[in-house]
Amino acid sequence: MSRHIFVTGGVVSSLGKGLTSASIGMLLERRGLKVRMQKLDPYLNVDPGTMSPFQHGEVYVLDDGSETDLDLGHYERFTSGILNRDSNYTTGQIYSSVIEKERRGEYLGRTVQVVPHITDEIKSCILSLATPDVDVVITELGGTVGDIEGLPFLEAIRQIPLDIGKENCMFIHLTLVPYLKAAREAKTKPTQHSVQQLREIGIQPDILIVRTERPIGREHTDKIALFCNVEKRAVIEEVDKEFSIYEVPVGLVEHGLDELICRKLNLNAGPLQMEDYRQLVHRIRNPRHEVTIAVVGKYIEHRDAYKSIYESLDHAGFAHSTQINVKRIEAEELERQGPEMLLKGVDGLLVPGGFGMRGIEGKIQAIQFAREHEIPFFGICLGMQCAVIEFARNVLGLSEANSSEFSSDTPHPVICLLEGQKTVNRKGGTMRLGAQPCVLTAGTKTQKAYGATEISERHRHRYEFNPEYRRQFTSAGMEISGASPDGSLAEIIELTAHPWFLAVQYHPEFKSKPHKPHPLFRDFVEACLQRRQGRSGVTTP
Ligand code: GLN
Repeated sequence: MSRHIFVTGGVVSSLGKGLTSASIGMLLERRGLKVRMQKLDPYLNVDPGTMSPFQHGEVYVLDDGSETDLDLGHYERFTSGILNRDSNYTTGQIYSSVIEKERRGEYLGRTVQVVPHITDEIKSCILSLATPDVDVVITELGGTVGDIEGLPFLEAIRQIPLDIGKENCMFIHLTLVPYLKAAREAKTKPTQHSVQQLREIGIQPDILIVRTERPIGREHTDKIALFCNVEKRAVIEEVDKEFSIYEVPVGLVEHGLDELICRKLNLNAGPLQMEDYRQLVHRIRNPRHEVTIAVVGKYIEHRDAYKSIYESLDHAGFAHSTQINVKRIEAEELERQGPEMLLKGVDGLLVPGGFGMRGIEGKIQAIQFAREHEIPFFGICLGMQCAVIEFARNVLGLSEANSSEFSSDTPHPVICLLEGQKTVNRKGGTMRLGAQPCVLTAGTKTQKAYGATEISERHRHRYEFNPEYRRQFTSAGMEISGASPDGSLAEIIELTAHPWFLAVQYHPEFKSKPHKPHPLFRDFVEACLQRRQGRSGVTTP
């Protein structure tokens, strides 16, 4: 029978609950267990696909096309368990499904209520992951204990031990112990209050993971144990990591977290296999080189808006023992100051995905600068569309070329709406989404990077390279290095006469892992490193 771990958070948001949950998943997998992970988000949006990256950070896309919370990115980077539509539920989704059932008459005239109908729906979403082959289901609850909208979820997870047996469930609560500089003291009271709130709801946490800026020591953790009714050894401090988020799992092992979980849930686990991972962490902590890569985007100010891109750059850096310094540039700022000022001295340029026309001209200027100065360039989704527009305007001489997303009456819509998108009005789940096959052109940089001829990558867009212009581009030196299997959609472009200028219509950042960087990120960083070192022949381990 599958066991269930529920991860809740208290005191404040942004404690790294997703990262901690993913780390727990990793430790259990590395003890030979089969893990499935899931995030429950109490907001009313049906999925994060319609939420602004300014507010909510990146939308993470799965193979099956689900548009999900960015914590699922951590799950995929840290574990190998399959994620799909069942891996992320929101209040909006739960209510939609209950209301639909009501309309179909499935409740046979009964009054439909939060308890039991909404809570039953939540429980069935959680329990559906517990298939016979799964040892542990980890369910992370978004938000913080005490949020009104989170209550039905807490009520649902309170009930699950009654349904499937207490011995099969455990509750892990993540809190904060702030350090008050004025008092020169770590304060445990917010943690005590947060656990009190949980216990009022009827949930007694088994383990407390306490986030701290600096080590707080036994004295404080013992006090927390006493006041929160938790075993002393089950209060684990998780101190901020100096170098990288990838150190988190190692820190948790040092506090015996995997052992605590396996014992409490009576799991038949193997010994912990962490050696290769420890080596990776050692490499992360001791880089031999560094490069500076400019990321020019619209949502730069939100730290998480390009989360997977920053992580993928880091993964590529790990493979080359290279520290990546990201220079985040607001595209509109680049329009004001010009590329010479802002891109001086950078070793590479990355233009990520995005929507809407704000900042587009800045991105195009940046790309022109990279193309003309032989700076390695990597364009992703909107970044590829901007590269196509730039090439059309400045190389093909089509000075008014544009995407029909930004100019409906451009005489040269080199990027235009996909045929199937022309009649779409509804938002949410209506773009070209999820894994799509792509065939690579032999002999290109792309094909050499992948070492394959057919690949699958995740998409999230409505617009596409206009096939009517393809011939003009290719004869001027922009090669289509990857296309849909029927050849109709150009998915990848590269410039033949440039050290490394490559752009993709999909999102490679969703498939990179710390120990297995995405091949295009890996080669992009290698090109940046070569530019930095001013010589060729940097070897890829
Ligand atoms: N706005 C563009 C489109 O819809 C690009 C989308 C993206 O970058 N994810 O095609």
